[in-house]
Amino acid sequence: MGEDNAGIRDHELIIIGAGPAGLCAALYAGRSEMDAVMLEAGVAGGQLLLTELVDDYPGLEEVGGMELAQHMADHAKKFGVEVTRGHVQRVTRDPEGRFEVEVDGGDRYRAPAIVYTAGGTPQRLGVPGESEFMGRGVSYCAICDGAFFKGEKIAVIGGGDSAVEEGEFLTRYGSSVTLIHRRGELRAQAVLQKRFLANPKAKVIWDTVVEEIVGEQGVVTGLRLRNVQTGERTELSVTGVFIFIGFTPNVSAFDMHVDHDAGGYIETDRDMRSSVPGLFVAGDVRAQLVRQITTAVGDATTAVFAAEKYLKELEERGAASGTTRPAEETQTV
Ligand code: NAP
Repeated sequence: MGEDNAGIRDHELIIIGAGPAGLCAALYAGRSEMDAVMLEAGVAGGQLLLTELVDDYPGLEEVGGMELAQHMADHAKKFGVEVTRGHVQRVTRDPEGRFEVEVDGGDRYRAPAIVYTAGGTPQRLGVPGESEFMGRGVSYCAICDGAFFKGEKIAVIGGGDSAVEEGEFLTRYGSSVTLIHRRGELRAQAVLQKRFLANPKAKVIWDTVVEEIVGEQGVVTGLRLRNVQTGERTELSVTGVFIFIGFTPNVSAFDMHVDHDAGGYIETDRDMRSSVPGLFVAGDVRAQLVRQITTAVGDATTAVFAAEKYLKELEERGAASGTTRPAEETQTV
């Protein structure tokens, strides 16, 4: 690491985000003795911090989300990567092709490569009880938490592809899955709607919003609902509430175009390379089939090795031409 006259700290690699993908990237970067810094916006763990219990991480039959996050953070730090608190505000690229990352408070970091694992944020309903019962009946991930509601009554909020598809998935666990949608028509693709509605466990409550998530002794017991057409208020007894009203990938800091899909998730190739040379992406912010802890750590591993290879190539090219700038033909920004 070095620091120039403008106070910019130079590294070989900047890892942005400290969820499972970022922590795994830090572990491998440290293990490879790269000069890397990991920027974490808050407490390390990402979405793990919203998960009460994880029962699908190989080798750990059941582990608390926070506990797993702590283990991952300790493991990453053991290999010596520098970890710095910093909420990334801007990612720019200088004429040399190096990335500059500015965090809140104004500190700036520079490196020829980034492993970007900033994840995303599930849209919140913003009703009383949602924060209180998060991880205790309220969930934003059916694959992660569905199995905890075997034989129980489940509610799903939303009317898009995620709500309907995840609702269908949840019918394998719940005694019933009641989809609650604010309109009288689903936004989801017809094929997904058809599959869900044909399931004997599936129910739909139309034109209805959730006003409150209620519970007893720290766990969810039901929902207070209001019909937006009639104003009628009802209660629904459920123990699981899965909210799928949108998920926003964290990509707003980029001061450059990065190829992404319709949902804003960053597209990569098989080596986690984005459309911007030197920008490698892993975890929930990446366009992919499933977003799991296992896929996040696997992809982060690939991203670090691909970044290392990229840096080596840059060095070889630099030695040949006296510059660190990537070859023009690879710049597809
Ligand atoms: P989405 O398509 O934006 O749908 C969000 C749903 O939540 C909508 O039905 C919306 O209602 C509802 N909603 C939003 N805010 C709400 C609030 N405050 N209270 C109650 N309901 C609210 O989001 P998504 O389902 O997560 O899908 C995101 C993208 O991923 C989409 O492009 C989708 O096609 C894609 N996706 C595809 C697949 C697949 O192809 N298998 C699977 C999952 C996701 P309104 O309908 O009234 O606006």
